[in-house]
Amino acid sequence: MKLQVQRTYNFNAGPSALPISVLEKAQEELIDFRGTGMSVMELSHRSKAYEDVHNQAIASLKELLSIPDTHEVLFLQGGASLQFSMIPMNFLQTGKKAGYVMTGSWSEKAFTEAKLFGEVYHAASTKEGNYRSIPTLDQLQYNSTDAYLHLTSNNTIYGTQWKDFPDTGDVPLIADMSSDILSKPIDVSKFALIYAGAQKNLGPSGVTVVIIRKDLLEQAHTAIPTMLKYSTHSKNNSLYNTPPTFGIYMLGEVLNWVRELGGLSAIAEQNEKKANLIYETIDASNGFYIGHATPDSRSLMNLTFNLASKDLEKKFLEQAKQSGFVGVNGHRSIGGCRVSAYNAVPVEACQAFKEFMIQFQTENS
Ligand SMILES: *Cc1c(COP(=O)(O)O)cnc(C)c1O
Repeated sequence: MKLQVQRTYNFNAGPSALPISVLEKAQEELIDFRGTGMSVMELSHRSKAYEDVHNQAIASLKELLSIPDTHEVLFLQGGASLQFSMIPMNFLQTGKKAGYVMTGSWSEKAFTEAKLFGEVYHAASTKEGNYRSIPTLDQLQYNSTDAYLHLTSNNTIYGTQWKDFPDTGDVPLIADMSSDILSKPIDVSKFALIYAGAQKNLGPSGVTVVIIRKDLLEQAHTAIPTMLKYSTHSKNNSLYNTPPTFGIYMLGEVLNWVRELGGLSAIAEQNEKKANLIYETIDASNGFYIGHATPDSRSLMNLTFNLASKDLEKKFLEQAKQSGFVGVNGHRSIGGCRVSAYNAVPVEACQAFKEFMIQFQTENS
């Protein structure tokens, strides 16, 4: 018998909502994973049963993102934050520079880390406009001889998102896609390396997905610690040491769920619908709600806005919480309000929040 559980409207920015069907499947398989008499957490990472989980997750990701054979998938640990260091350690060659496109706090962190390893510079920055927008492609300034160009595809804190990506030719393009990977179809062939912590759109925290162009591996520095070399993980199918097995299992199940929904174009359509419910409400509020991002840079994942005064904002956040909406507070570094509508957040949650916003405005204007 299944218990009827009250699920909350979860707008957390990360870790964030997971599909209910995935949680139920994990629950069903928790004690006896596919006839092994063990949980997936108790399997040896060298066993056939686990290896199938591992390889299936890689295959599903390749299929859903149409990853070309020039690229491979790695499952690492340390979060997107360790990628901030691993990327320059491996790829910022002596005598070369790397350009960083500054679109928010995560770009700043990536830049700060890279500075420890070599010469880096801002290829563009929207900091002066309080990170309300993404630079246009013709504002990007970088050199054809650079080690790489780095960007953050979705700015989780400020609520902006790239709509198009530059064609960088021979300059390897590297993207932090932590908060919008798998939210829409992308052309992976444009990128030399894509990375993402799993805990927004892919699964639970603990796994970091890296999609890397194979030829980049050959250009990497060699005098770095074994665990921090991409090639170590590539040569060992991400099984050099014990991987986060349960997280990879959950990732595989999230990917199955995306496939069953109809893949990335179906997910993208649903994400647009969800975001539009909230943005429409902001735009129709006559300035009661003030969107942070400029309309052409709005994120479909993290929808950020303010109210006219700090007091009103506080009241709004308190009432949202009382009404069962979790995670609407903006990031602690900038305040305001933020609805994170990742893949697993249902349309009904955004619809309910829209109604809440309209009612709050009626009662407070
Ligand atoms: C959440 C997030 C990170 C940090 O990820 P960790 O896995 O916690 O290290 C980095 N970049 C972006 C864009 C994020 O949204």
